[in-house]
Formats: sequence, structure tokens, C-alpha cells
Amino acid sequence: MIYFDNSSTTSVRPEVLDVYTKLLKDTYGNPDSLHALGRRSHQLLEKSRANIAQLLHVNPSEIIFTGCASESNSLAIIGYALANEHRGHHILTSNVEHASVAHSMEFLKRFGFEIEELKINEQGIVTPETVKNHMRKDTILVSIMHVNNEVGSINPIKEIEKIVHSNPICAFHVDCVQSFSKIDVPFEILDMATISAHKIHGLKGSALLMKKNKIQLVPLIQGGQQEQGLRGGTENAPANIVLAKTIRLALEEQEAGYKHVKEINEYIRKEIMKIPNTQINSPDDAIPYILNISLDMITSEVLLNALDQKGICVSAKSTCSSHSSNASSVLLAMNKTQKSATHMIRLSFDKNNTLEEAKQFIKACKEIVKEYGLSL
Ligand code: PLP
Repeated sequence: MIYFDNSSTTSVRPEVLDVYTKLLKDTYGNPDSLHALGRRSHQLLEKSRANIAQLLHVNPSEIIFTGCASESNSLAIIGYALANEHRGHHILTSNVEHASVAHSMEFLKRFGFEIEELKINEQGIVTPETVKNHMRKDTILVSIMHVNNEVGSINPIKEIEKIVHSNPICAFHVDCVQSFSKIDVPFEILDMATISAHKIHGLKGSALLMKKNKIQLVPLIQGGQQEQGLRGGTENAPANIVLAKTIRLALEEQEAGYKHVKEINEYIRKEIMKIPNTQINSPDDAIPYILNISLDMITSEVLLNALDQKGICVSAKSTCSSHSSNASSVLLAMNKTQKSATHMIRLSFDKNNTLEEAKQFIKACKEIVKEYGLSL
């Protein structure tokens, strides 16, 4: 089995699983309970928060544990907008955000917020000029992803941050799900940032929102004092505790992982172009972890299934929109042809992939093209 779908989710690291299993058995106390078992869970939970904060260069009170990045994004956007509506009702985002951002924005319209979707350019990014041209006095929030999950384009968030913060009432939220532990994330200059554990060899049902102390949010899950009153419900202590190890190991491997994946990406970029009528949809300077390609003679679904039969897992569009059959809206927003948008597949790599797998992938593509009666 060749797994080129790491942007959808990753395998759990054995070291993480070992600790988690142990915690499930021994550390089942509710961190809010006052007895010894509860106090032990609380102590480990807060140690994990402090360790994560240190790794991200923020304060422990700025780490909010959540159940998934979709929740973090929803909390950041809806929670911030509702807590700050007295300041203004204008919000900026891009037209290619993850569904959890796009749908949160849509939800806010019901409360009278004015949402403006900024158009990405042909390289798949929101330019700082675009943000500048749309900022208003009553803009209270800008939410833009760091790395696009379908094509891997990298938004210039440092430049965008300067523009956002030129308005003192405006906060900047960045969805860092596809960038964290792959490229550096400047947490120190962001107001809110989203990370998901299962994209970095951690557990599903585990994520966080980094939120600076000065940022006010209203909770989406009502219920209790947990997570500074921002997320009611008994803490998932074992998952939150093991997130510190997941993050530490991911960051330790960032540099070597990037180099390794770049080699695989470059090999496929070079070899796939030898197949006639092939397009590379990811920009040249995209993150090497994601490679979006189209074989013009085979539709996404057919290619995905043919690769699947050969034991190769890839995605067509991002996984969260994989059950809708229309063309990739990201590619259309980048001004790619309708054909590219309906014939694309996304490969997403990680440290466990090998160059040998990349060679097998190219061989499989050539076989599929032949099997479908197309000349090479
Ligand atoms: N944001 C981006 C950019 C993603 O790619 C994803 C998942 O694919 C998410 C958010 C949602 O992550 P989760 O599955 O943890 O909710």
C-alpha cells in the first residue's frame, strides 16, 4: 500500500500511541476532580499545555485544547465575531478556505456580519495588496489559511499580518493545519492559530486553538469552567496530554522531513510531465508536502479509483469535499481550466514515504494511461 494522502490524515506515531494507551489506563481521572486521580490528570494536562506553549513560543494560557481543527476554526471565527460585534461587523477571508472556515463565515451572516471573500491569484495566494484594498475601519477579523490544503500554495502571512494590525481593532486568525511542523509558523505575531493533531501523526479528536490572552471569545460549547470557560465538557485529558509529545516530535523532524518530502515531490513533478497532456496545478513554490496534478485524459474519479486498485491512496479535491462531484473550486479560483479542475488529484506526502513509492506511482500512472487506451 502506498499512502499519498497525508493531508487528509496521517498514521499515529507508535510513541504517541504507547503513551496514550498508558494514559487511558492510568490517567482516567477528570482533571476537574479534586481527589488524587483528578489532581494527577490536571497536573499532566497543565504540563502538556506549558510544554506546547514553550514549543510555540506563546504563554500556556494561550493554548486552548479542542476536539478538531474544524472546532478550533469555528471557535476562532464565530467566538471572536460574537464577542467583538460592538467593534464592527466586517470580516475578511479568502475564497478557498477549508469548509470549517467557509461555513463559519456563512453562519455569521445570519447575525448581520458582512463577510468578504478575497480572491486568490493564479498562484493560489491572497496577496497583501488584496487584503490592504479591502480592509475597512470596521473590519474586526481577517481569517486566512497559511497553506492551501488542495494545492499547497503558501500565503504570505507575515506581510498580511502587518496590514491586518494596522487596524488596531482587527484580529488575525490563521488556519495552520497544513503548515504546522512543515514550515515555520510565526505564532508570536498571530492572534489566533489552528492546529490539528491527526495531520501530524497524532490522534484524531485532538487539536488546539492558539489564542492570545488579549483576544476575547464567546464559547461555542456551553457547560463549564474547562479551557478557561471556552469549551464546556469533560476534558479529553489523555489526548490533550499526548498532544505535547506529538507536537514536539513533529517539530524535531521538521527540517529533515521537509528535505525528504521535497525530493519525492521534485521527482514526481519531473517524471509526471513526461506523460503527455499532464498538468501540474500546484504552484512552483508550493509546500512540497502537497502536489496537485491533472492527467487531462482521465477524470479525477477514474484516476483515483484506478490508482486505488493498484494500492495507491490519493485524494481528488480535499477530503472534506470528496463526496461532491463538481470541479475543484480551488483550481477554478486559480483560473485553471475546467478540465484541470475536473481531472485533478492531490498527492500529499510525509516522512514515511519513499522515492521508491514515487517511482511506483509514476509507473502506475503510465500503466493506467495505457490501460485506458491512450497513447504515451
Ligand atoms: N483546515 C484545513 C486547511 C484542513 O486541511 C483541514 C482538514 O483537512 C481542517 C482545517 C480540518 O481539520 P480537522 O479534521 O481536524 O477538523
